[in-house]
Amino acid sequence: MNTVAENLLKIKSSIPSNVTLVAISKTKPVADIMLAYEVNQKIFGENKVQELVDKYEQMPKDIQWHLVGHLQTNKVKYIASFVTLIHSVDSLRLLEEINKQGIKVNRKISVLLQIYIAKEESKFGLDEKELEEILKIKNSFTNVQIGGLMGMATNTEDENIVRKEFSHLKKLFDQVKSTYFSNDPAFKEISMGMSGDYLMAVEEGSTMVRVGSSIFGTR
Ligand SMILES: *Cc1c(COP(=O)(O)O)cnc(C)c1O
Repeated sequence: MNTVAENLLKIKSSIPSNVTLVAISKTKPVADIMLAYEVNQKIFGENKVQELVDKYEQMPKDIQWHLVGHLQTNKVKYIASFVTLIHSVDSLRLLEEINKQGIKVNRKISVLLQIYIAKEESKFGLDEKELEEILKIKNSFTNVQIGGLMGMATNTEDENIVRKEFSHLKKLFDQVKSTYFSNDPAFKEISMGMSGDYLMAVEEGSTMVRVGSSIFGTR
């Protein structure tokens, strides 16, 4: 078997079957992605709109494409018709634009609200006040489905910091769920965990891990 398939199957067998594995294929060629597809991986994530569109056009149509990185509002229109999940809603303005494009293509677009949990200035995400502001008016977004929360932990060797950030996101998810989504089964995902920390993320309650380099190799 090829390395990509081996890596993928090993990771899949190390996480519970109810945790979704999003294979992050950014910068990797279609041929590499096909190696994962051929062992039944159907969910892939990209962080650049142009690359996502190109791969969507070239690859089998039963693939579910996720957008994981910071998304500029002026680019939402290029992916609105086909994207399965946008993990990275980090502003009200972006959510408004996704809703607007959802209306245009007559879809309800699924998104996660990206929460700022790391101790790094460089990471995108909503703080709790911005989150609250969005949640209060969430019913006005007719063409968006808020499917849960996403977070990126600090890039550090210190496992205690990473674990605390994951457990904070899980607590926040539970609060938001009971306050705003108790009657909405679609609000169910906690997207957290990457190649270096996905096992810990799963222990802390992740329902969706985003793994790239451990499957496809370094970028
Ligand atoms: C690149 C990326 C990942 C995957 O990172 P790896 O360390 O290669 O597993 C996960 N999430 C986001 C938002 C990314 O941009």
